This record gives sequence, structure tokens and C-alpha cells, in this order.
Amino acid sequence: MNDVLINKTTSYFQNAFGSSPEKVVLSPGRINIIGEHIDYNDGYVLPAAIDKIICFAFKKNNSNSSRIIAIDFDDEFEIDLTEIPQLEEKVWTNYLRGVINQLKINGFEFKGFDCVFSSNIPIGSGLSSSAALECGFLFGINELFNLNIKPIDIALMGQKSEHWVGINCGIMDQFSSVMGVENKVIKIDCKTLEYEYHEADFSDYSLILFDSNVTHSLFTSAYNKRREECETGLTIIKNHFAEVNSYRDCTVSQVLSLKNEMSEDVFKRSHFVVNEISRVTQACEALDNGNIKLLGQLMLETHEGLSSEYEVSCAELDFLVNTLKTEKAVVGSRLMGGGFGGCTINLIQKGHEEEIKDKLSQLYFEEFGIELKIYDVKIGNGTSLYTKN
Ligand code: ADP
Ligand code: MG
Repeated sequence: MNDVLINKTTSYFQNAFGSSPEKVVLSPGRINIIGEHIDYNDGYVLPAAIDKIICFAFKKNNSNSSRIIAIDFDDEFEIDLTEIPQLEEKVWTNYLRGVINQLKINGFEFKGFDCVFSSNIPIGSGLSSSAALECGFLFGINELFNLNIKPIDIALMGQKSEHWVGINCGIMDQFSSVMGVENKVIKIDCKTLEYEYHEADFSDYSLILFDSNVTHSLFTSAYNKRREECETGLTIIKNHFAEVNSYRDCTVSQVLSLKNEMSEDVFKRSHFVVNEISRVTQACEALDNGNIKLLGQLMLETHEGLSSEYEVSCAELDFLVNTLKTEKAVVGSRLMGGGFGGCTINLIQKGHEEEIKDKLSQLYFEEFGIELKIYDVKIGNGTSLYTKN
């Protein structure tokens, strides 16, 4: 599938600029196996890069400007590289202007180049096409002009580019897009950026994403409220247990012992956070032991917590998970990402994928009148140069 994309992108480049590209870069989207809403609560996340990518073709053009073509949008822009970029009206160009802005304000020197790109990462479904865009573009410029930017700094500058666009994201998306390794998940401490890889051999199971195809606008207000509630919860816990500095140091029984000291909502949020932090550790152990059934069980518990305690699910996502959790062939299912829409991530026994897909699509349409979108994913490598072999 990616071969088709690579051919399309490089031939487009050839037609547009009359020569073959110098560098071809592949930059992936990402999934998160477990560890939701705890990146800002001192927890860990467990993401991985996937085999859905943006392909970029680059070549230096010996001028001081760049022409950049987005094949999927049938659109392009030109940018003068002697100036510091400003935000423009066309949103997609800002992710790339943001990268150039980062390079400029950090004093990197580079000249003009041409670029064509195209993608098979679904846009706006929570697979982080935006991180793939920033990181792949930056990776390509780094290769083209030998800027010697380290992978971790590509991720950090990618994140800053997204902040520049106006989206206050954490580091998980860019980190996974850049640092991903085939068949491994990355346990990331979002606070210190320490990370470790764990083997992710799903053996008899396939990873499938079901896209609810809805986005509810509740997200931003709920997100801010959850952050406040978690801070309130942590203050109460710290007041009672001097040894606790963050949710990471806190046990479930400590939270339970403070139930009467907290409002119902603050208790539920804190209880979820402490359990979710522990589930990430358990998930790593399950993967290390090849115990995929246990991993799936933890994913189901995460969904239950996100739905009833953290309260960031919605009717569509609950329907997708609740319909599948009674299926024998489905070992794990949960909403992935911030909630209120987007995808569920599922572990489904090989050989049963098609029957489950058909059944769920039909039931989902009957219930909500919405087409279910489906993505088969595998864990792939992080941003890299493509070399023909
Ligand atoms: P996601 O969850 O996919 O990251 P975002 O809303 O964060 O969703 O980012 C999507 C934005 O990234 C798009 O609106 C567009 O501006 C840019 N983008 C992603 N993929 C492409 C593409 N193939 N071509 C042009 N722009 C893209
Ligand atoms: Mg994004």
C-alpha cells in the first residue's frame, strides 16, 4: 500500500519539477495502546508509530524560496526563505511554515528546495497526521542540508511548530512519529522524556481501529475542567499523604481512603488517573510476557474508566466498545485519544476480522445512521529516509 503512495509522490515530483527527488521521506501516524489522559497527570503513555504514512519528495533548487505541493489537497504554496514565516490563512501551510519558523529562530541555515507530499493517514481521526506532517517535513530539510538535528529534537521542534499553529499539544504524537520502531511500543514519561521500548508481538491478534466518524465539541471545555479537577484531587491527596508528590506516587487505597474528602467528580477523576497509571505498567508486563489477553483486558478497563469515571466518552464510542466486548474474538477495545469522538482501538483474533467489521458497521449504522470507518494498522518504523532496494 505504501509503495503506491511512494510511486505517486515521486512521479508527481518528477512531473512538477522535471527531475527526480533527491530525498524521499516517510513519516508515520501513531496509535496509543494505553495510557489515556495521564500525560498531563504525571503518568506514562504507550504509543507506537503505524504503517500509515505521509510520503515527502524533496530536492534543493539553488534559490532562496520553496515551492511546496500537497497532492491530497490539490494545492500548493511558495515561501520566501529569507524571511521569518508568519501564520497564513490556509491552515495546512501553517504546519510547514511553523517548521521553517522553528528552523529560522533556532539559527539553522538552509537554502531553497522543492517538496511534494501525499498521505494515507486519515486526517483528523486522531492518528496524528499533523505530527507526521511536521516531523516528516523537518526530517527532510534536516537530511537535505545536513543540519545534524537529533531525532528527539525533531520531535520537540515538531511539537513547537504545532504550538505555533495554535494547538497546545503534548509531546506524545511527535515523539512516536519520530522514534517509533517496527513491532515495538514506546513507554514514554512525558514529563522527563525518558522512554523504553517494549516488544509488541500481537501474534494471533490484529490491531483494528473503528472510526466513529463523529467529533463532539465538548472536548476543549471538558479537557480544561478535567485538568482542574485532577489538580484539586492531587492537592487533597498531598495534604493527607506527605510522601505523595504526584499521581505517580499515589496508591489506589490512598485515593479510596479520601473519598469523603473529595467531591464525587474529583474522586472519580483521581481514581481513574491512579488506576490508569498502574495499567500502563501492567500493560508493559503483559506485552513482555506475550499475554495479549491481559493487555486486552486492561484496554477494556481503560475504556470503562474513561467512560464512567473520567467521563470523556460519548454514546457512539460506548456503543462501539460495548458491542464488541461481548464478542469472543475481541480481546481488547477502548476509545483512543481525548474522547468525545474519533476512533476506538481494538485487538481482534486473526481470522475473525471481516465478520466483526461487517457486523459492527451494520449495527452502528442502524443505531446512529453513521458510516463506520475502519483502519487496519500495524506497528511501523518512525520517520525515515526511503531508499529503493
Ligand atoms: P490529526 O488527528 O490527523 O492530527 P489534526 O487536526 O491535528 O488531526 O491535523 C490535521 C491537519 O493537518 C489538517 O487539517 C491539515 O491542515 C494537516 N494535514 C494532515 N494531513 C495532510 C495532508 N495529507 N495534506 C495536507 N495537509 C495535511
Ligand atoms: Mg493532530
